[in-house]
Amino acid sequence: MKDENTCWDCGKKMVKKNVDYSLYGIVIGKFPALVCESCKETFFSEEASKKITQMVKEKGLWGLQAKTKIGQAGKTLDIRLPKKIIEFLKFKKGTEVTITPENQNKLIITV
Ligand SMILES: [Zn+2]
Repeated sequence: MKDENTCWDCGKKMVKKNVDYSLYGIVIGKFPALVCESCKETFFSEEASKKITQMVKEKGLWGLQAKTKIGQAGKTLDIRLPKKIIEFLKFKKGTEVTITPENQNKLIITV
């Protein structure tokens, strides 16, 4: 279908390219995708998406994004980190981090 080469976002032409895919700063590989010449929106094919999912799982990066709840310790609040995140970031008790609010919905924790 001709429609498949039209950007879903802006309606401009899309070209086939091999695109680098990375997740959490780790390069997963190059995959075939349609890239919009105008807005650079990238759409991976269903086949490429399946391959990406498989490789993300193989690299142990699947399911790193998780929900957690804010707890209370005395007068301060703490955030419990799931085991997978701790392992990925190599956090230990006592690891010094910097916390920076990016806005009122986002907090960045930097080692
Ligand atoms: Zn576009």
